[in-house]
Amino acid sequence: MEVLNSIPVRLNSKEVLKQLHMRKTNTDIEKSVQELIEITRPIAKPKAVYEVCYVSNRNWDSLDIGGIRFTSRVLRINLDKIERVFPYIATCGRELDEVAVPSHELVKSYCLDIIKEMLLYSARSYLEDYLTRNYGLGQISEMEPGSLESWPITQQKELFSIFGNVEDLIGVKLTEHFLMIPVKSVSGIYFPTEIKFESCQLCSRERCSGRKAPYDPGLAEKYREGRR
Ligand code: SF4
Repeated sequence: MEVLNSIPVRLNSKEVLKQLHMRKTNTDIEKSVQELIEITRPIAKPKAVYEVCYVSNRNWDSLDIGGIRFTSRVLRINLDKIERVFPYIATCGRELDEVAVPSHELVKSYCLDIIKEMLLYSARSYLEDYLTRNYGLGQISEMEPGSLESWPITQQKELFSIFGNVEDLIGVKLTEHFLMIPVKSVSGIYFPTEIKFESCQLCSRERCSGRKAPYDPGLAEKYREGRR
């Protein structure tokens, strides 16, 4: 297991303002963003932890990863021909919990939220690059528990059990409802793949701002039949 806790923090007001996706900004918003960047940049510590695990005991809709049983047909199909995978958890870090924004300052709260999202994005892309370089991987894909019906969020428990005390390692806590604190955290399994996989390809939800690939009903049918 390896913890990555020296992830570079690159925050600049131009990028934060862009990520706000506001039609118009004004000097007050620009000032708030600049103030927040000055407060958060010195204390922000995005982090990630990953483990190298091997896949075994594949069945119709379950498999073992690092000796832990996971139940998901889609995950099993994606890892059918893969031996080595990389379970991970990445987070914006708890350090920004110390930054207090009065509840009536809605725009400023939103800006802080965006900054946390950007830190999470940095942690995740740093981890992806790190895995790709250090393990000689080509293209990688990933799956997250809770992103599809086929891999319910309750399986966060199994995923977290791979790492032991995640709160001690990177400050991420799993609630009894399987949500992560800080909220700007993400967990899943990276795996090498020749054909890029996105869970969104199997998800028919309309109007999702997080969609990364179009819904593919033909592919979804194949997965339902147990093949790809
Ligand atoms: S379309 Fe949206 S809800 Fe569906 S898997 Fe993608 S991000 Fe998740």
